[in-house]
Amino acid sequence: VRVALAAASSRYGLTRDDLCGLLDGEPRYRVEQVWDGLYRRLRAPAEMTELPASLRLRLEEHPSLQPAFELCTEQVADGGATVKWLLVAADGSRIETVLMRYRNRVTACVSSQAGCAMACSFCATGQIGFGRNLGAAEITEQVVRAARACEDLGWGRLGNLVMMGMGEPLANYRSVLAALRRCNEDLGIGARAMTVSTVGIIPGIRRLAAEPLQVNLAVSLHAANDELRDSLVPVNRRYPIAALMEACTGYTERTRRRISFEWACIAGVNDRRSDAEELARLARPLRAHVNLIPLNPTPGFLVAGSTPGDVRRFRDDLLAAGVNTTIRNTRGREVDGACGQLAGGGGALRGARVASRP
Ligand code: SAH
Repeated sequence: VRVALAAASSRYGLTRDDLCGLLDGEPRYRVEQVWDGLYRRLRAPAEMTELPASLRLRLEEHPSLQPAFELCTEQVADGGATVKWLLVAADGSRIETVLMRYRNRVTACVSSQAGCAMACSFCATGQIGFGRNLGAAEITEQVVRAARACEDLGWGRLGNLVMMGMGEPLANYRSVLAALRRCNEDLGIGARAMTVSTVGIIPGIRRLAAEPLQVNLAVSLHAANDELRDSLVPVNRRYPIAALMEACTGYTERTRRRISFEWACIAGVNDRRSDAEELARLARPLRAHVNLIPLNPTPGFLVAGSTPGDVRRFRDDLLAAGVNTTIRNTRGREVDGACGQLAGGGGALRGARVASRP
C-alpha cells in the first residue's frame, strides 16, 4: 500500500486500496464514503461534510488527495452553453477541458496529453508541439471537473465523453484506457457514450478493438489520398490510408461499432468535388459516418476554412454518394475553442468573455 501511495500523486489516482491505507484506523465504511464522495458526489475532501472535521482536515491536507490541476482561466461561450477551462498542473503544463451543452445531452471534451507530437499542420495543439503524457488521474480529474460543473450549472448528469482535447489519445494508450475505465465504472458514463478520437495510430486502433470496454472510435481523416494526407497529417507517412482503412475495418468487425471520420473543411484543399468522391469511396464500405468540421483558424496555418456554403455542398455531395454525413456545429469559436488555442497562449483571451462560475 505504501508503494502505491507514493506513486499516486493526485486525488483521482488513488485506488480503493490506497484509500484503505490512508484511512487506516478509521471505521471501515469510511473508505466507501470517501470514494463515493469523490466519484458519485464529485466532492473535494473539504466538502465532505459527512466526515468528522478532524478527518476532513487530514484528508484535505494529504499530499495524495490534492487536485492535479489549478484552474487558470474559465471562459464561457455560445450563450452559456460552452464552458472552457485552461488548467495548469504543478509542473506548469497547460491543458484544456471543455464542457458543451446540447439540446439532449452534455458532453465533456478532455485532453490526453499536454501538447501533441503529431504536428497536424492546421491544429493549434500540433503547432505548440509535445509537452508530456497526462496520467490517468489527470484525465479522470478533467472529467470529474466537467461532471461537477454540469451539476452545479443545473444541466443534470454528464452523459458523454470525447477524447478530442489536446493530444493524441492512442499515443498515451495506457493512461487513456485506465481513465476511461474509471469513468465508466465509477462515474457511470456508458462506454457507448465515450469516443476516442485518433489521428490514425494503427497499433492503438487494433489494441482498442480488443478491449472489453467498447467505445466509439473517431478517425481524423481530413484527406482521402496519401499525398494530401501526408501534408496535413504527417503521421500518415507512417500509417498510410490503405493500412488505416484495414485497421478501421478490423475495428468495426470486432466491435460492431460504426466509425466516424472527422474532416476539417479547408478551402480549395479538401473540399472539392473530387475530395468528396475519394472520401465516399473510403467511407462507404465501412459504413462510416462523416463529421464535417468547419476549420477553426489557427495562427500557424494560413489557408482559410471552407465557406459555410461550400461545407454544405460538400456534405450534399457525400450524402448523394450514399455517405452518412453531418456538419458539426462548432463550439466556443469566440473563446479560441479550437483544439489547443487557449493553451497556445498567443491572444488566447482575445474577444473572450472571462467569467468565473458562481
Ligand atoms: N489527436 C486526436 C484528438 C484531438 S483533435 C485526433 O487527431 O483525432 C480533435 C479533432 O479536432 C480532430 O479531428 C482534429 O483533427 C480536429 N482539429 C484540430 N485542429 C482543428 C482546426 N483548426 N479546425 C477544425 N478541426 C480541428
